Amino acid sequence: MKPELIVAIDGPSGAGKSTLSKRLAAALGYLNLDTGAMYRAVALAASRKKVDLSDEAALGRLAGDVSIDFIRQDSGERVMLDGEDVSQAIRTPEVSLLTSRVAACAGVRRAMVELQRQMGAKGGVVLEGRDIGTVVFPRAEVKFFLSASAVERGRRRYEELKARGLLVELEQTIVEVEARDAADSAREHAPLIQAEDALVIDSTAMTIDQVLQEMLRVVELRRRQAGLAGPVAGADR
Ligand code: C5P
Repeated sequence: MKPELIVAIDGPSGAGKSTLSKRLAAALGYLNLDTGAMYRAVALAASRKKVDLSDEAALGRLAGDVSIDFIRQDSGERVMLDGEDVSQAIRTPEVSLLTSRVAACAGVRRAMVELQRQMGAKGGVVLEGRDIGTVVFPRAEVKFFLSASAVERGRRRYEELKARGLLVELEQTIVEVEARDAADSAREHAPLIQAEDALVIDSTAMTIDQVLQEMLRVVELRRRQAGLAGPVAGADR
């Protein structure tokens, strides 16, 4: 049997990657891999263990030592760090900013990329992040680069944090989202850039459903081109 596709979704924060990656994976019956959660877990571990963020060797060692897993529960997917559920703890604005710093370290990236390649190698997977189509799976069959205006991305992130009961300010959230994207785009190792063969979708004025339909159309086309017969087992269409 031919393996199912590898789908990469890259783009800046707040562009809708997480929601769309989950929905797309559910619709296709694929595995969903949130690579940002993995960098966030390393950042949380570094903060808890008080690792000096300027000590690249120590950060690289830490990334190689921690165990990061995803488990599926009725409440959704949970992120486990050394056996502890850290799904909530990794989503604070403080951890977000810390993550951009930790993710700039080459040793951390090496460890995470290796894990991501292991987890996605069999295909039938949607991976979302910043460097999936450029570094992790440059030969992914489908690559999306999802963007939206900075103000819209900041607004979405603000609504998301507020819905989780966090006390945040809109202006501050927009500034933080922009700062994080600037850092992710300017870093030396695996910066956030669009793969040449990625399909760019600007979601500023689109609903989630509209983007999802567009993504499904592209994936179905690629599946047919790859000789994969019939529709996939859709759970969410
Ligand atoms: O996607 P999310 O906002 O959870 O990602 C958090 C941070 O992790 C990003 O700002 C970025 O610094 C880092 N990241 C990365 N490469 C990825 C995914 C996330 O550097 N593939």
